[in-house]
Order: sequence, then structure tokens, then C-alpha cells
Amino acid sequence: MSTTVSTSPPFDDTADFDDADRGFIAAGEPVIRNDRGEVIWDNGSYTSFLTGDAPDTVHPSLWRQSTLVAKQGLFEVTDGIYQVRGFDLSNISFVEGDTGVIIIDPLISTETAAAALALYREHRGDRPVVAVIHTHSHVDHFGGVKGVVSQGDVDAGKVAIIAPEGFVEHAISENVYAGTAMARRAGYMYGAALARGPEGGLGAGLGQTTSTGTITLIDPTVTITTTGHELTVDGVRMVFQMAPGTEAPSEMHFYFPDKRALCMAENATHTLHNLLTLRGALVRDPHVWAHYLTEAIEMFADKSDVVFASHHWPTWGTANIVEFLGVQRDLYAYLHDQTLRLLNRGYTGSEIAEMIEMPPALDAAWHTHGYYGSVSHNVKAIYQRYLGWYDGNPARLWKLPPEDAAKRYVEFMGGADEVVAKARRSVEAGELRWVAEVLDHVVFAEPDHTEAKSLLAEVFEQLGYGSENGTWRCEFLSAATELRTGNFGTPTVTASPDIMSHLSPEMLFDALAVQVDGPQAWDLDLAIGWTLPDHGTAYRMTLHNGVLTYVKNSDKPVGLTLTVPAAALMALAGGDIEAARAAGLKADGDESTLSTLFGVLQPGDPNFHIVLP
Ligand SMILES: [Zn+2]
Repeated sequence: MSTTVSTSPPFDDTADFDDADRGFIAAGEPVIRNDRGEVIWDNGSYTSFLTGDAPDTVHPSLWRQSTLVAKQGLFEVTDGIYQVRGFDLSNISFVEGDTGVIIIDPLISTETAAAALALYREHRGDRPVVAVIHTHSHVDHFGGVKGVVSQGDVDAGKVAIIAPEGFVEHAISENVYAGTAMARRAGYMYGAALARGPEGGLGAGLGQTTSTGTITLIDPTVTITTTGHELTVDGVRMVFQMAPGTEAPSEMHFYFPDKRALCMAENATHTLHNLLTLRGALVRDPHVWAHYLTEAIEMFADKSDVVFASHHWPTWGTANIVEFLGVQRDLYAYLHDQTLRLLNRGYTGSEIAEMIEMPPALDAAWHTHGYYGSVSHNVKAIYQRYLGWYDGNPARLWKLPPEDAAKRYVEFMGGADEVVAKARRSVEAGELRWVAEVLDHVVFAEPDHTEAKSLLAEVFEQLGYGSENGTWRCEFLSAATELRTGNFGTPTVTASPDIMSHLSPEMLFDALAVQVDGPQAWDLDLAIGWTLPDHGTAYRMTLHNGVLTYVKNSDKPVGLTLTVPAAALMALAGGDIEAARAAGLKADGDESTLSTLFGVLQPGDPNFHIVLP
């Protein structure tokens, strides 16, 4: 079963393999460790088995993609531009200037970024880093920054940090409000708990998986705000194009006129990308995505000899670039326009996902296939973006929640044993999607029904093995794993202390507000003054009706005034009042107010159930 309605391009078209190998200089060490000796990246765990033809536990197209993505080492992109690929989920790129090197997107972890820089320097000399460019606000494009430059060198003006408008705000906000739920769900999406191999994890389509090292952030010193803006750094000329609201809320492309090279950030890669990632996010806008690809084609394509991105391999040759960017643009525009056409004829997201047919000319290119995003879930995302979760049919307006519905379904269907017996016959008939749906009811009605869980795990496994999409495969196989061996929690937490230290006081207050346990707090009436000497601001916070709100510089009365240095604020963000006191927190007034507030905070649960009630 394929996750796209697809007429596959020919497997003997080897252009992608040629491009993925082109410019190869040297491989690096496959295993990267942190300073405690723990493995935080192991590309060898993929290349050890990703050779030859696909086994019958992997969709051949995903096998092909994973084999390409697992290629690792230092590569020349064009004269003076290099990439290290296969050191993390993303690529790190190096652009040589008159005296030093500009780094584009320093991976997720300081350890992988430092290892990539070392590999580059081993072959290109010990050039100092003069600038870091972040193409967008996702962690795989900035988290390793302190592995390649120090905060001190940035503060001293030796290194510029260049990023698009809104970069820091979006880089951290995604980890704050819904961060716990996203991180737990990302464990499914990236298959972090899966053993690697032909029956387990072999890649997420965009890259193999996420590294698990130290995540950091440095505030930009140069913010790019306008399309057409030109900047010369260390003799390297760059022309920027803003692309906000595409693959990330804060994103930009840029062109190197003297090198005839174009960097497309993450908006044109060798996959159909996500309009809504399976870990959960705000829905992205395919309409502006297509618009910015059109603009990039108009501004840069016919004067480019190479286009590269921060995932996958480059594309060379002006005609190929024009074709590649045009097809990527048509992909997002087609999904957008056809979904709207069909929703205006009354079809719902799940119906459109089954109906939509991709033009053969688009399907015939490997890079349009859904290895990371999928036609199916992107179409539903577009429906959600325009019309939301409700499809207009009031039979579905006030449905019972899953556990309540499951008990009644199973009773109506003749009891759990009867449903499992029927499900077994449907499995034999190949009705895997249907069986997943009915066994989900049995497991939610009777979570201790061993046979139902075991059969559902088998069904998920078969669905995973048949998925062309890397993240679908990870989702199905992760679900099978939890049904068999229990909840694996949240393997990778992206809200690192360095990220959290960039929270503004207002974001931090918002992060507290979303932890207030409403019913426990709705009779409380608190007012706390916050004086923040390191930020030069003061706030009056109130808790009333179970709602935490704040205003800046209010002179209304408070029951307690806190003086909170930055370090103490961080400690409070972690819910630790004692650590905050040790970091210089001073309280003036009724100190019990603070413990009352913190007593009604309910942090997220990184171990919540997904596939069990
Ligand atoms: Zn990325």
C-alpha cells in the first residue's frame, strides 16, 4: 500500500544517486558522542543494512530514499561552497569568504555541528567562522550553533548571526505552548524508540532521524526583513528572499550571485514536505509556499548553476533547477487548489484525500513523492486550515469521546472476542485500514484484551512496512511497539535549558498560564508584582477565575512583590522556588502567595498514552 496515489518514476533513473554522490570529498566518523561518551548520532546504524534491493518489510520507494539520505560525508556543492550531510537530520553548509567561512544551519546538536566543522576543516583548512546563517526557525537549523561558535565571539563582534525576522520568537514558542504534547508525538513520528533495521527504523524521509545531543541558541545580530536585501560578509555577496509562513513561520531563501548558487532553506527538497507535521503543529500555508517558489524562480532560477537546501542533495544545471523548482511549486499549488475545488463541492478532508489524483507529470518525479509529508495528510491539513475539524454534519458535531464510543461499538458488534475473530478474517482479506479502525475500538473498550492488542500491533506493522512515507512508517511501527511493550514516553526533549533561557518574561508567564489547573484555581484571587531588574521591566500578574494574566508597569495593588533576576526567573520557569531563591529571588509581602500559585500548576505529562486509553 502506498501513501500517495502514485505512478512511480523508474527505479533505473539514477540521477538522484549521481547528485547525492557528486562532489564527494571524504566520509566522517559515523558515530558521534557527547562529552559523557554517549552516542548521540550513529549514521552507521543505517548504512550497515541500507544496501541492495528493498526487503519485503520496506516500501521500495522509501528504501531508495533512505539509501540516498544515509549518504554521509563532506561534499563540494560548487567552488567555495561545501556541505556535510549525514551528520544529523539536516545538512550543514560552508561558504568560503576572503578570510573565513560562513556556516548555514548548524544542525540540531552542538556535538554533530562541531564534528561536521572538524571534518570540513580537515579538508579545507582551519578557516575561522565569520558568520552563521539560520535559514529558518526549526531546531535542526540552529540547535548546534554553540558547537561552531561561542557566545563570547558573537558578543565581541567576531561572528555575525544572520536570521530571518521573527526567528527567535518562533524558534522558542513552538517548544513552549504545546511542547510536551509535540515532543511525545514526535517520538512516534521520528521512530526514536525503534530498533534500526529493515523491520524497524530506517529514516524519516527528510533525514534519517534527529540527533540527541546538546541544543543551543544564540540571538541573531543581523535580522533580514526584506526581499531583495543584499549583504556582503567576508567578501561573499548574498541576496535574500523572505519566505515567511511556508515550511516554517520564519524562513528565507538566499542567492550567491558570484557563485551562481541558490539556497532554498527547506522549501524545495527531494520530498513532498509537510503542510501539517504528524507530531502536530499549526497548519502551514501551501498557497504562500507556492507563491514564494514562483518568486524564487523569477528572481534566481535562470541565473543559478546549483540549488541546495538544508536537507537532501543539491540539483545542478540551470534547466534542471528551473524544472525542479517549477515542479515543487506545482506540487503545493496543485494540492491547495484541488483541495479547495473539492471542498467547495462538499467533500470532506478524508474524502478528498482518497479522491485526489496527482498529475502524472508530477508523480513521475521522485522528489514529489511523500517521504515526509504525504498527499493524504496534507490534503486533510488544507481542509483543516480553511474549514477546521468540523465537517458540517451535526451527527459528527457532538460525538462521544473514544473510550465511551469504543465500549458501545464493541457491544453493538457482538463483544470484543467476536470483533477480534472477524478482524482476523478481514486481515486475511487485506482490509488492514478497516481492521485498524475496529481493533482501535476493542483496545479502547478493553485495554487488557491481549489478543486484540497483539493483532492490532501486527496490523500496524504491516501498514508500516507498506508505507512509502517515512513518518507514516515510524508512526505505525511506534504504535506496534507500544502495544507490545508499553509506553516509551518521550525519547527526545527539544526544550533544552539553553532554549528556555531565551524565553521573554511574557512567554514565560504564558508558559505558566497554560499549566494552571483551572478547577483547582478558580476560587483563587492572587496579585503578584514581578520586578525584573535584568530585563528592566515590571509586571503585575493576577490569578482570577482560574486565569493567569499580566500587565506591564501597573500601579494597582499586589499582595506580594517579587524581585527576580534572570537566573531566578529561569528557575521559576522550571517550577523550582528553592532554586529561584538560591539564584537571588527576593520576596516582599505575603510569601504564601507564590507557593499557592505554584501549587495549582500542572505540568505536561511526557508519558501520556496515545494508542491505549
Ligand atoms: Zn529541517
